[in-house]
Amino acid sequence: SDYPPEQLRPALAVLDISPALPLRLLNLLRWAADYYHHPLGECWQQALPVLLRKGEDTTASQRAWRLTTAGLALPENALKRAPQQQHALGLLLREQTIAESHLPALNIKRETLRALATRGLAERIEIAALASSAPPILLAAMALTPTDEQQSAIDTVAKSFGSFRCHLLDGVTGSGKTEVYLRLIEMALGRGEQVLVLVPEIGLTPQTLTRFQQRLPTPIAVLHSGLTDRERLSAWRRARSGEAGVVLGTRSAVFADCPRLGLVIVDEEHDGSYKQQDGFRYHARDVAIKRAADWGIPIVLGSATPALESLHNALSGRYKHSVLSARAGKATPPRIDALDIRHQPMTDGLAPATLRAISETLGQKNQALVFLNRRGFAPTLLCHDCGWIAQCRHCDARLTVHSQERRLRCHHCGFHRAMPHRCDDCGGNQLEFRGPGTERLELTLTQKFPDTPVIRIDRDTTSRKHALRDKLEDVHSGEPCILVGTQMLAKGHHFPDVTLVVLVDIDGGLVSADFRGPEKLGQLLTQVAGRAGRAEKPGRVLIQTHYPDHPLLASLLRAGYGEFARQLLEERRARGLPPMAQIALLRADSRQLEEAEQLLANLRADLQAHSRDIECIGPLPAPMSRRAGMFRAQLLLRAANRPALHRALFQLCALAENHPLARKVRWSIDVDPVDLS
Ligand code: ADP
Ligand code: ZN
Ligand code: ZN
Repeated sequence: SDYPPEQLRPALAVLDISPALPLRLLNLLRWAADYYHHPLGECWQQALPVLLRKGEDTTASQRAWRLTTAGLALPENALKRAPQQQHALGLLLREQTIAESHLPALNIKRETLRALATRGLAERIEIAALASSAPPILLAAMALTPTDEQQSAIDTVAKSFGSFRCHLLDGVTGSGKTEVYLRLIEMALGRGEQVLVLVPEIGLTPQTLTRFQQRLPTPIAVLHSGLTDRERLSAWRRARSGEAGVVLGTRSAVFADCPRLGLVIVDEEHDGSYKQQDGFRYHARDVAIKRAADWGIPIVLGSATPALESLHNALSGRYKHSVLSARAGKATPPRIDALDIRHQPMTDGLAPATLRAISETLGQKNQALVFLNRRGFAPTLLCHDCGWIAQCRHCDARLTVHSQERRLRCHHCGFHRAMPHRCDDCGGNQLEFRGPGTERLELTLTQKFPDTPVIRIDRDTTSRKHALRDKLEDVHSGEPCILVGTQMLAKGHHFPDVTLVVLVDIDGGLVSADFRGPEKLGQLLTQVAGRAGRAEKPGRVLIQTHYPDHPLLASLLRAGYGEFARQLLEERRARGLPPMAQIALLRADSRQLEEAEQLLANLRADLQAHSRDIECIGPLPAPMSRRAGMFRAQLLLRAANRPALHRALFQLCALAENHPLARKVRWSIDVDPVDLS
């Protein structure tokens, strides 16, 4: 240091010999902190495993023994009257350090070493762990011969190895995108590079991992939210040491340190789980693109239903667009029909034609998948005497009936209460369960099809470790069964024996107020439908709806997602919405709604006094105006371009930090918001 010694404090401890994050990653985090207007320290926390922040070393270490200076000075036979100690001394003189884990093999007892330590002759130290014994590599699967479209996508990406290029791999479900990834990964490994593969939170199925393990001759470091802190640190270290050629992980894996990174893949790039919804609200796909640009390497965004942002960039030529238009192998696209359920006698949400179709499917020894994005037994508990509806005490939301555990649960704040026997308001006992949830569908289908296993997959049935894996194994046995589940089923799974997919209720998406509503519905519909007929058996999709002629639905069914998405882009352009404009959301939460709105109104006035090129909409109550006891208001900011938006956001942060109300009102900025609720 250039400072005089008396101005310096002594170091308390040296945590790491080398920096925990290399400069390039630090710079990426600095960029993200600026871009998302979030404190840098909290961004760093996201990038580092918890145990590292608690003082563990960046490299794995293990205990080992060596001789002290006094020990080293001993003549070779100095301890011959204590044969055990002499044995240890001899080996320590020869080996210099001996890992504790090797002691048994060398026939050295730990007591012996302790005795030497007491005499000041030996000491125990920490040394870097030797590269862990890598798990056996299975390499069971053979590469498939790529189709022409696959080959052309592979060639296009391969041409950009060694330099930054963003590729959109736009391939219908079942078109063999994963096969393209595998080929590219093999090529990158051959170049001595590491590959970072991002997958959505729930898409990280054991199936994907197995497929990778069976094909890639390298250890794979897996990073997802289900790991213990210890497992996470160990995977992080294997990425950092370069031992793992592939790092496969969910959102935060985008910050994993990979010293030889040569390729990034973002699978299902449209998926909402890439956007963190609280605190540091980064979008892992967008950070990944920035990372690839900084590192000067190619990145592949893969999806059957690209986000409008990505599609826009591909159509405008900023991204390279590779299309896989046909399903791989012998699979054909499923037939999709809207099923008009108006005036139909429904059985717990299922129309007669739906039940007939399920019955036929099972009769042909195939599997059926019934999709409903609502867990629990029923979304509403209603009093038939007076109309009372069970509401959450802390949120602007209804409580969901969970019948097996006989409780009412709020899906927004975690509040729960025992199922009441009588109405809270009038005391009547005519309480009714209104509307279906997955739990109810499971029960109904079990009663209708008593000889067929009904497998429910949602957050409630898969919270136990390995529960999802076990359930998927049942499905993959290929026996006839009915799968019931939420969007956990919509993503990435490959169910070769499912030939019928039923969407129980999508009407909410058709009438959504969120400007992203149609895009999300189109993606969900296409992804769920894509689970049908993925092998040699043709598939069929039934969409139950009260609006069979709705223009959105009609255009999606007639023209498919690609055409539908292009129409939505035109609409966004006409309405001045992303990706043609840039938006950010300023949220304010408070015990008093007035305070939250007041803060936003003041900030809006201050901001507009400063900048002309920003448009403010609000303050308005959030679509869910109260959550977990807090009132929520929001202000939407819109600008024609990024620099204008970011100038305004920097001003806004400065204004908000100094505002007197900011002490009572919790505020946050969400750049490129995905969820406007
Ligand atoms: P996606 O990731 O696009 O949904 P997958 O990579 O899972 O598609 O492929 C779907 C199915 O097609 C898988 O069973 C896969 O083994 C098979 N498949 C992929 N590419 C080929 C190919 N070139 N020839 C034959 N089968 C293929
Ligand atoms: Zn009542
Ligand atoms: Zn609640």
